[in-house]
Amino acid sequence: MANRNLNLLDYSEITGAAPIALRTHGWRAKCLQRLVRLDMPVPKTVALSFEAVRAIAAGSMPDLSGLVGRFDAGQLLSVRPSAENTDWGGPGAVLNIGMNNARYADITETHGEKVATALYLSFVQAYAQHVARLDPDMFAVSEPSPRALEAALDDYEKEMEEPFPQDPKKQLAEVLRSMARAWEGTSARLLRQAKGASAEAGLGLVVQAMAGGYGAPETGAGVIQFIEPVTGAPQITGRYAERGQGREAVSNNPQAMYLTCDPRGASLEELHPAAFQSLVRHGADCREKLREEMQIEFTVVNGEVSVLDAVKVQRNSRAAVRVAVSLAEDGIITRKEALMRVTPRALSELLHRQVDPRGPRDVLARGIAASPGAATGRLVFTSTAAQASASRGEPCILVRRETSPEDIRGMHAAAGVLTERGGMTSHAAVIGRGLGVPCIVGATGLRIDLKNRQLHTGRRILSEGDLITIDGTAGEILPGEADMLEPALDQWFTTLLDWADALRDIGVRANADTPADARIARGFKAEGIGLCRTEHMFFEDDRLTVMREMIFADTGPDRAAALARLLPMQRSDFIELFSIMEGLPVCIRLFDPPLHEFLPHTREGMKQLADALDKPLSEVVRRSEELAEFNPMLGLRGVRLGVTLPEIYEMQARAIFEATIAIGRRGGKVVPEIMIPLVSAMREVELVKARIDAVAAAVRVERGNGFEYRLGVMVETPRAALRAGEIAQHAEFMSFGTNDLTQMTYGLSRDDAGRFMSYYVQAGVFPEDPFHVLDTDGVGELLLIAAERGRRSRKSLTLSICGEHGGSPESIAFCRDAGFDYVSCSPFRVPVARLAAAQLTI
Ligand code: PEP
Ligand code: MG
Repeated sequence: MANRNLNLLDYSEITGAAPIALRTHGWRAKCLQRLVRLDMPVPKTVALSFEAVRAIAAGSMPDLSGLVGRFDAGQLLSVRPSAENTDWGGPGAVLNIGMNNARYADITETHGEKVATALYLSFVQAYAQHVARLDPDMFAVSEPSPRALEAALDDYEKEMEEPFPQDPKKQLAEVLRSMARAWEGTSARLLRQAKGASAEAGLGLVVQAMAGGYGAPETGAGVIQFIEPVTGAPQITGRYAERGQGREAVSNNPQAMYLTCDPRGASLEELHPAAFQSLVRHGADCREKLREEMQIEFTVVNGEVSVLDAVKVQRNSRAAVRVAVSLAEDGIITRKEALMRVTPRALSELLHRQVDPRGPRDVLARGIAASPGAATGRLVFTSTAAQASASRGEPCILVRRETSPEDIRGMHAAAGVLTERGGMTSHAAVIGRGLGVPCIVGATGLRIDLKNRQLHTGRRILSEGDLITIDGTAGEILPGEADMLEPALDQWFTTLLDWADALRDIGVRANADTPADARIARGFKAEGIGLCRTEHMFFEDDRLTVMREMIFADTGPDRAAALARLLPMQRSDFIELFSIMEGLPVCIRLFDPPLHEFLPHTREGMKQLADALDKPLSEVVRRSEELAEFNPMLGLRGVRLGVTLPEIYEMQARAIFEATIAIGRRGGKVVPEIMIPLVSAMREVELVKARIDAVAAAVRVERGNGFEYRLGVMVETPRAALRAGEIAQHAEFMSFGTNDLTQMTYGLSRDDAGRFMSYYVQAGVFPEDPFHVLDTDGVGELLLIAAERGRRSRKSLTLSICGEHGGSPESIAFCRDAGFDYVSCSPFRVPVARLAAAQLTI
């Protein structure tokens, strides 16, 4: 296209008064203007608007006389990208525009041939690579020399069939055009869109006078920042390179010196104390006026500092928390702003050990990041081996095709868990999150060879006993031992969450099954237990056998005898839970899983059980076959067990009531909440409620003690959601079990969906894994219907969510809008939920 759109080239010299806005010129231009307004020594800079850059990308070749005329004749220039958001990237900076044969001769005269050669060569290299798009390898040289420069210029001419451009205006125009077009490229577009940029997001460009950095030793370039980027602690870090230029001069340069106390020799502070002091002042000004920890790019020429650029210091989550809290404590930002500056999900990085981001990362395989945190250990393939390893004090990583309740003890013993199958709500994932054990599921690229105790990763074959690291935060499997960062539950974390609690208006409870879970939940300041999955209490060694005896009981009296042995165990569980929670509400869900889950699944296990029960093996096998179901998750489980085998719920209710009385006698107070799982009909609730009320009456009479309790239901089937109105007549609260509800609404198995979920998400069939992020359209509609019908029939109905979604910020927003009273999630997600809930009020 000809120069038709010439007038569209809108550029402004950045002065304190120039009209520069984020939406028109991008963050870098805006930031530079702020630096100018703070009276920092910023070299002359011109900003091109998004509109101008768009026109350039579309083919307008502007006459740059006006723009170039703003700078001194012969001035070398740099161009940097300026998108609306720093995270959206942009093409790399191009420096030293204007270098040509004439400038080469001048600089040779003023600064010597070596300096001039290095400058010209680096510009030819950058231009060839980024503008002419030639192979960078062709222009790579080990040591700049006049001969290498000449060769580079010749190569350029040969490839492009024209001499290296000498007109600075043409050079600049070509640089601008190539940067503008790079922004429009497909991969750049996809990358920024993944970070939240809209399809129309624009790019601004910033043209700046190069401020020295070459020549005599008293010139150089560097970057400085005032915090340590991993911890956020105040600390001056950065590098300075004498005779260097740009960030590259310091980033990969072993000769670049430290800014203070360089043990290898002089530091910037010693070399140029006044320059150093003015940088420290500029940093403090940035912090106070830009209200952020900035990294400043600078040059020093004859002891004088120029500030070329400033960007937000890249930091990890723990540093982000500390910086936000410190800025608020210093009165620079408000507490609300501090709360908004931390991404809730990022908090989980502070709660667990993490692979140190500064170390190398060789990823062997990937899976679904099911439970955050990282762990290193020796590979084991069975729960028994995991337990043996733990008893030797050797951390291990338990690798299974998928886990089943039988693996609980192995999971307890392991430092991390890795499964080939499964999704976000499969057994391994739920238990991993509950225990705070790092876990990766659905690592479909792995092949487990159980016979030879080997793990095939595609690239490598690992054997039992080999060390691996799993990063459950990123879903990555790494070979060997990785450097780790320890959890950071420090004063900054606590302070931020205390501020969150002062604001939020929806409760946060924890899903906690064991005393250990409950202690963690209290540590994270959960306001109670929203879901205690009592079946997890039966997997302990001594109980499992009694449980199995109960399952194998042929007669009512035999079953009653086994339950009588389970009763004191359950009672002491509840006494312990109630004591730990010190009067906070505890919601106990009655027994839920199919009984078959408690039986051994291997012949060896069945043989051991036959021995333990003193029954023939054939009978154990027969009984086990009888209990097997085609679709156990849709079979005899939840309230259906409560209706058909009422003695189990009666035992549990008695244990809860007796524990309540025991706590009362110790001077404590608890109003237990009893929750019935998987209901789908009002009549189920009526039947169970009648029996539980009868147990309560009996216990009151027997013990001569009064107590209160609340009875409610889990809404986990679509029918329960639709019939919530009538069900609420018998329920004081409803807690949405969105794991099962998602499974049943989609007709999608929570244990099998992981196999194809990533394809579905990639193909855009589902925007996200609905077991991970609540499907607000479908499952969400059922939640809204149930909430509305339930509350219409019982105004005081307490509403909550206790599926895994309860800890996700998006679901919390949905539940809050729907008027829920609280969310309940794994203990380790409680801090995330507290922050997310607070952000919703701001
Ligand atoms: C649910 O289904 O959402 C739930 C909390 O119960 P579970 O995960 O134990 O089935
Ligand atoms: Mg459920």
